[in-house]
Amino acid sequence: MEREREQIAGLYIHIPFCRSKCYYCDFYSIQYDDALADKYIDALISEFFSVCEQFQNLYFDTVYLGGGTPSLLSHRLLSKLLGAIFNSNRLKENCEISIESNPAKGEFYKQCADLKINRLSIGIQSLSDSILNLIGRGHNAREAIQALEIAGKYFDNINADIIIGIPSQTKLDIENTLGLIMPFTKHISAYILKLSDESPMGKKARCSQMHLPSDDLVADMYELAYDKLSMYGFNRYEISNFSVANYFSRHNMKYWACWNTIGIGAAAHSFFNGVRFSNASDINRYMLGESFLTTYDKTLIPDKKELLFEEIMLGLRLESGLDVLSINKKFGIDFLSRFSSVIDRLKGIAEYKDGRYKILSSKMLLESAVAVEFLD
Ligand code: SF4
Repeated sequence: MEREREQIAGLYIHIPFCRSKCYYCDFYSIQYDDALADKYIDALISEFFSVCEQFQNLYFDTVYLGGGTPSLLSHRLLSKLLGAIFNSNRLKENCEISIESNPAKGEFYKQCADLKINRLSIGIQSLSDSILNLIGRGHNAREAIQALEIAGKYFDNINADIIIGIPSQTKLDIENTLGLIMPFTKHISAYILKLSDESPMGKKARCSQMHLPSDDLVADMYELAYDKLSMYGFNRYEISNFSVANYFSRHNMKYWACWNTIGIGAAAHSFFNGVRFSNASDINRYMLGESFLTTYDKTLIPDKKELLFEEIMLGLRLESGLDVLSINKKFGIDFLSRFSSVIDRLKGIAEYKDGRYKILSSKMLLESAVAVEFLD
């Protein structure tokens, strides 16, 4: 009998605990609690093994612990979780294992390195104390720099997140922040602030109690970040992500390229064999069993048109653009003729070259507007 072919995916593990809520955030997270975290790790391990049992030929070449705040987990819980995953023998050689952290105490980074985590992502956001205070971060600039210094002793592959477009932020803030973090990092994610109406800052902005910077100023700050990062060898490979050569996030690349990713934990999302679905965004419902396998079984395969649009929208975020041949093959279409009128309309903003359809570098901020043109 022919052996079933090995399937490769990325594994996302959601740790939904935070010490307090940042004012701009609408991710699912709850207050950290030791006893609850203990039970939650057991639920994650059991979900992981159920997935492995169901898909006997599934292997992971990236693992990403995100949140929430994974750095709140004790060493005991983190090693219990990762120990179970390593012992499953489902990780490929050279697996990228990333963890998100807020600026944490030094021993955390050493413990992560001892646990064979090989990529660290630190939520710095800004190195202006007044901005950190305004957005409700639990650290100040000095603590953030200290965390980077210590993390640098244990990790070569470090990402720092920063946010662009915070009220009162200036180009000088962006320049200072980047200047201080670049020496410690190989990857920088520079996100433009998008507030949901439900976040505390979103509510304030909606009733004019807080004034967001103008679109022009945000674009200027983004351009400044782009120029400064390029000057120091950080290449943009996705609209918000910059890395020095070969240090791009292999895990996140799977989201933009629409490759298989399995998310375990409360509120985790998955895309697997053409099906997109998510676990219960409530820790209690999740622990009662609303997890990957229950939702996977119930989910209907989305319409091909929807999947095609998603693939175009995500691919346009990449500096390298869409792989037209792969889209043609996957969806049985001829992309260039199917969208010929849109492609004509977008001349001067996006172009087709060497098998890829991409937004011109200087027009990248128009990405959402360009993507909408492909809705048919
Ligand atoms: S931004 Fe991160 S640390 Fe802050 S509340 Fe959201 S998930 Fe928690």
